[in-house]
Amino acid sequence: MEETGGEPQTNAPGAAARLRSALRALRGRIPPFWRKWRGWRGRIPPLWRIPPFWRGWPRAAQIAAAAGGGLLLALLALRLDVWTPSIAAPGELVLGLAGREVQLELSDSLSGLRSVSARLRHAEGEAQLLSEKFAGGALFGGRRGAVQRALVLDAEAWGLPEGAAQLRVVARDWSWSSLLTGRAARLTIPLRVDLSAPRIAVLRGPGAVRRGGAGAVRYRIDEPVLRDGVSLGGDFFPGYPRPGAAGERIAIFAFGRNARSEAPPRIIAEDIGGNHGASAWSARLIERKFEDTAIRLSRRFLQDKVLQLAAQLGVNEPNALRAFQFINREQRARDEKRIRQIIATSEPRPLFAGGFLRLPRSAVTSRFAERRNYMSEGARVSQAIHYGYDLASVAEAEVPAANSGRVLFAGPLGIYGNCVILDHGLGLTSLYAHLSSMAVAKGERVERGAAIGRTGSTGLAGGDHLHFAILVGETYVDPQEWWDAKWLRDFVESALR
Ligand SMILES: [Zn+2]
Repeated sequence: MEETGGEPQTNAPGAAARLRSALRALRGRIPPFWRKWRGWRGRIPPLWRIPPFWRGWPRAAQIAAAAGGGLLLALLALRLDVWTPSIAAPGELVLGLAGREVQLELSDSLSGLRSVSARLRHAEGEAQLLSEKFAGGALFGGRRGAVQRALVLDAEAWGLPEGAAQLRVVARDWSWSSLLTGRAARLTIPLRVDLSAPRIAVLRGPGAVRRGGAGAVRYRIDEPVLRDGVSLGGDFFPGYPRPGAAGERIAIFAFGRNARSEAPPRIIAEDIGGNHGASAWSARLIERKFEDTAIRLSRRFLQDKVLQLAAQLGVNEPNALRAFQFINREQRARDEKRIRQIIATSEPRPLFAGGFLRLPRSAVTSRFAERRNYMSEGARVSQAIHYGYDLASVAEAEVPAANSGRVLFAGPLGIYGNCVILDHGLGLTSLYAHLSSMAVAKGERVERGAAIGRTGSTGLAGGDHLHFAILVGETYVDPQEWWDAKWLRDFVESALR
């Protein structure tokens, strides 16, 4: 409750009236000060009666004077320029050990830019980064277009302390405002100096990886990062948040068939300031030899299959052997590129559970990563690495989804013929090729074991079989590991869950 206090208002009836009559009496005695002016009014002619100085001028000169006066007024209005210059710059910045460049775009459309300055204020002082004057003059202004300037911020060279700082930019134009010093635009950009690399702790990782094989790792990073994951042999495998564990990250990675082997796998991370951190754990890289095989190209295969496929793919080459060479090299490369684009949209969480399924009741006719030498009339005419397993069952056998996931692609894909690609999350995908028919469409969810199509010989296939492949990131891996539920538990799921 609020108390209302103070004196009650009293009315003094007649007080105002008494004051008024006193004033009236006073006025009768003292002549008002403006009485004298009335006397002058008759003697001083009013302004509008003063003959203008241009009265005697010729008409043309009068018009010219009026036009000149108008122009002067217009110039004055224009040169006072009510618009401040514009400064375009990033909203906020994080400055790391590596330093960075900050792009400024300055412009003033009316009177033009006159000067720009930029200063950095930090906990221990101030530094001038930019001070520039632009050509121009008070009368006509200066350059109207936009000007770009790059500020190079080098925290290490300047010995900046870590913490908050500010980047202040002032741009002035050539307007006559502010006593001819120009109108100023000021921009303050908050900046954080972070010179510490992200710290990575590996929580769980496999002790060994076979060439052509894979593994999963769990780790923790002490700050938010732009990019993190496993680096191995020149390949990069992105990390994902571990479901239900704040701050923890997981990544599935591979030791590719062609990866370099000079260093063990490392977790790498880059923070917002561009600071790089890395951490390795002791994981042995196990080398492995892959088979070399010879495949004889029959006349029938070349004449029937290859020429038919060439026509389908729009390869204009009447010679069957040359058509095969083109398809096996150029079309294969094109298809691999397309597959990398398709699998780029993997979900950031595991969709799979349990060992991967193999085509039931099937025989292996070709293994992972073998080198194929294609022979014709006793000579090697082409080569390729076979990055999957060929599995043969009865013709048009039903193909189960190797694990749960989402359909990334279902359709014709060059040498792979009718092809289905499933996403199992975390960059893990499986590929089913040469299908005679497909039972799923892009975007569909599939359960482990659900029929996705039937085997066939579409694309570059000599007979009815399933070409089955698994990719980790952009790297093909040996499906043998993924078919093995125990390996999957020990080397992948143990780190993920
Ligand atoms: Zn194959």
